[in-house]
Order: sequence, then structure tokens, then C-alpha cells
Amino acid sequence: MTEELVGKFPCPLCGDGLPVKTTKRGKPYFVCERCGVQMFVRYPDGIRVLEGVLERLGKSLVSYLGKGPARTIAVVAITNRILQLKQTLEDMENHQGVFTRDEELDRAAEVAVREIKRLQAQLREFEKEGSGDAWTL
Ligand SMILES: [Zn+2]
Repeated sequence: MTEELVGKFPCPLCGDGLPVKTTKRGKPYFVCERCGVQMFVRYPDGIRVLEGVLERLGKSLVSYLGKGPARTIAVVAITNRILQLKQTLEDMENHQGVFTRDEELDRAAEVAVREIKRLQAQLREFEKEGSGDAWTL
């Protein structure tokens, strides 16, 4: 895999990086030439998730692609989860009062922050690991 990997997404079967293409209507899709898998992202929520994952992972996805589908899919799912948790944190902060803080929201935010750190540590572990058994997470 020598091509620019920004804008690539892992094939769910073989884990190869698939270039993100765009339909005439501007919807992203991928085609795996090896497996024949085609994926179309048709709805705004999915497109937003895809953009977030690609933007977040950017070139670091290079280190995951080709290590097998389980790992690359896990990386995408973990990255998306981190983005969701960060959005939740932002929402919680926006619901906090200016002069008084809701302690339950603060505790919930602490849980979210811990979860984000755990997931980030998991991503770092994936980066360190060699290709090994591609199906073992
Ligand atoms: Zn494939």
C-alpha cells in the first residue's frame, strides 16, 4: 500500500484500504477490487461519521490498514466511539449551569473521560502491535 491513505477506508472483509469515491450525487462509496465488496454511505448521519473518522484517523489509518479486517474495523469503531463521547462531553458541558454545577453531570463526564482515555490507550496498543493474527483483537 503505497498510495496516499488519507481518504481510505478499510474493507470489512480483507482490511485493505479502499479509496473513498463519490457518486454523481456526492455520496461517498468504496469498492474492494479484491473482495467485490461495495459500500455506499447514503445518509447524512453516516457521511458525518465517515468524515469524522477519516479526519480523526487521517494518515494514522496507514498503520492499521492491511492488518486484517477485525483490527481495522475495531479502529474505526473505536475512533467513532471516541468522537461520540467527546460530543457527549460537549453536550454535558453546555447543560451545566453558569453559577451552579450539576454534580451528576460532572460524574457522568468523568466516566466519559475515563472511557475516552481507555479507548485511546487501546488505539495506541494497536499501533504498537505487529500484524500478528489479524483476527485477534
Ligand atoms: Zn476486501
